[in-house]
Amino acid sequence: MKLLNPGPVTLTKGVRQALLGEDLCHREPEFAELSKRIISGLAGVYKEANASYIPVLLTSSGTGAVEAMFSLVPREGANTLVVSNGVYGERAAAMLAAQGKAHLVIASAWTEPIDFAAVEKALASGTFDHVFAVHHETTTGRLNDIDKIGVLCTQYRAPLLLDAVSSFAGERIRFAEWNLLACAATANKCLHGVPGIAMVLAQERAFAERKSGAASVYLDLFRYQKEQRSGFSPFTQSVQVLYGLEQALIELSAQGGWEARHRRYRELTMRVRSSLAKFGITTFLEDAASYGAILSSYRLPTGLSYDRLHDELKREGFIIYAGQGPFTGQMFRIAVMGELTDADIDRMLSVIERLAT
Ligand SMILES: *Cc1c(COP(=O)(O)O)cnc(C)c1O
Repeated sequence: MKLLNPGPVTLTKGVRQALLGEDLCHREPEFAELSKRIISGLAGVYKEANASYIPVLLTSSGTGAVEAMFSLVPREGANTLVVSNGVYGERAAAMLAAQGKAHLVIASAWTEPIDFAAVEKALASGTFDHVFAVHHETTTGRLNDIDKIGVLCTQYRAPLLLDAVSSFAGERIRFAEWNLLACAATANKCLHGVPGIAMVLAQERAFAERKSGAASVYLDLFRYQKEQRSGFSPFTQSVQVLYGLEQALIELSAQGGWEARHRRYRELTMRVRSSLAKFGITTFLEDAASYGAILSSYRLPTGLSYDRLHDELKREGFIIYAGQGPFTGQMFRIAVMGELTDADIDRMLSVIERLAT
């Protein structure tokens, strides 16, 4: 089965094999060494992050990492501006609400770019000390313009918390220029690992300068960071998933790092997009330049239901992804993360051609 959904991804043989590593107790020194190697590998994915950001590992999905990232926001006296144009911006606002933390949402329609004028106006009012944004909004495939948000975060001295769950290792992240306090990521998207481990890369000095604002026992980033200095973790980590992640990081580096991966995604996405255009299938966002490299959303052609498209593709060994919320039944999404060849994509396209033309 080839997975064209936005994570989990089709694994390489190497990563799958790594899952069969030895049984290991998470209180033994071998576990600490494994964690330290992974932490060092993650810190090295972006050269810019290596010196001043520290990856913190959690056994959770990407949502857990985003939620744990909010440990950096104090429980009292902070006010976060949430910039939203999709499911994941809304989810972050729900987390802040659940944690009882003050916030305001600047929402645009899911099909629209971020409302930068409204963000600037809010920041200029001087009432916000943190900004949350989603880098690659998987709802549509839009790569939000975080360069613009970053300029505002720098100008108004508001540290940025970024959901980079579907972009980490696949798109550029400008740590310093964006006044980035932390970003959340996961093992099973652009890193090509197995689901079960997620991570937050945070400014190392934040752990000394701030007190934990965690609103839960399990998702207290400060507690993980403290124990992780010696390679351990407050709670049981998913050992086998870490084996897979270590191998995935080795493969990422051997293949030329995030930039090479980004180019490969771009290639595959353009291959999909140009063929679909020939079959009369257009992108869901009007301006195709709004998309990142990782995933694009497409309008369902008239007369072809999502269910039929999905089921016929599944029969041929491909999993695509539906639209969420109001987009259900209007769109389908194709992500190109994971172990995919040009031939896989071409075979998938020939199935769509048969159904759409
Ligand atoms: C996948 C994703 C998440 C997290 O999803 P999980 O199912 O919890 O792993 C968060 N944000 C974005 C932008 C995502 O694409």
